[in-house]
Amino acid sequence: NADAAMYRAKENGRNSYYFYSEGLNEKLLHRLHIESGLRHALEQNEFSLHYQPQVDAVSGEVVGVEALLRWKPSSGAPVGPDEFIPIAEETGLIVPIGEWVLREACAQAAEWRRDGIAPLNLTVNVSLRQFRSDIASAVATVLRDTGFDPRSLTLELTESVLMESPELVEETLQKLKALGVRIAIDDFGTGYSSLAYLSRFSIDTLKIDRTFVLDLPDSRDDVAIVKAIVALGKALNLSVVAEGVETAEQADLLRGERCDVLQGYLFGRPLPPQALRERLLDARAVLT
Ligand code: C2E
Ligand code: MG
Ligand code: MG
Ligand code: MG
Repeated sequence: NADAAMYRAKENGRNSYYFYSEGLNEKLLHRLHIESGLRHALEQNEFSLHYQPQVDAVSGEVVGVEALLRWKPSSGAPVGPDEFIPIAEETGLIVPIGEWVLREACAQAAEWRRDGIAPLNLTVNVSLRQFRSDIASAVATVLRDTGFDPRSLTLELTESVLMESPELVEETLQKLKALGVRIAIDDFGTGYSSLAYLSRFSIDTLKIDRTFVLDLPDSRDDVAIVKAIVALGKALNLSVVAEGVETAEQADLLRGERCDVLQGYLFGRPLPPQALRERLLDARAVLT
């Protein structure tokens, strides 16, 4: 197909693009543009991390943050993760990029802790390609280098990761658990995997996907789904987090169902480190 041929052409000779009589469509060009930009983004320091608060559903206290990758190419406008992460994944660039994320986030969280800001839990997203490429040693190295407490680190995996060969998943998760880190299933309920992995693998947290939260409390179906996910989590002794909480009504319902942790614009957007730090300091001032 044209897509694959295009990439081969690109790899074979620098700047030797094939032009199809049909004409390159805008989308493909845009994609190639992103791909070539991504190749230099790390060395050009174009990445940064934002941190989104996660709050205890009952006390409202910030108990953790999720690190979310941001990319601002020096030559243009910011590109959203939903757009560039899949391309980074396909090209394998996600491996070095993901390692950078892990290191940057752990270093930042370790610094906040040294400053006595809060014993925050840190959550980092890990993609399939990263998971396959010896993630446990990467995590071990970063933890050693940054001095961040492994017990405060949660790795978010999607269900697609758990659909890998069970042997690989089991072995890798065991190595990660041995380091002391926690494992969450991101976007829970949207994947195609079976529930068997919940008992087979040692998972700590279920994260209810935003699409199930969006239409609460009006959608009876979504209320039923959320109830079922929380009940499943409780029965298996897992912590349950809801993402994409935007309204007080959504939060009330989730709290009522005994969801443990809430995350979403209602409690704070993803913020650059300095702004998040101020937010945490403000919260502390209110408490004391
Ligand atoms: P995710 O891990 O499920 O992250 C949650 C996404 O929902 C984030 O989008 C966040 O900004 C957004 N969000 C949070 N609260 C709300 C809300 O109340 N309403 C709405 N509408 N959205 C909310 P973001 O930052 O654009 O990231 C999108 C996805 O990109 C992430 O979804 C994750 O799958 C991926 N991603 C982001 N950073 C990384 C990374 O460092 N590594 C990897 N592998 N993937 C990442
Ligand atoms: Mg996530
Ligand atoms: Mg998510
Ligand atoms: Mg999601």
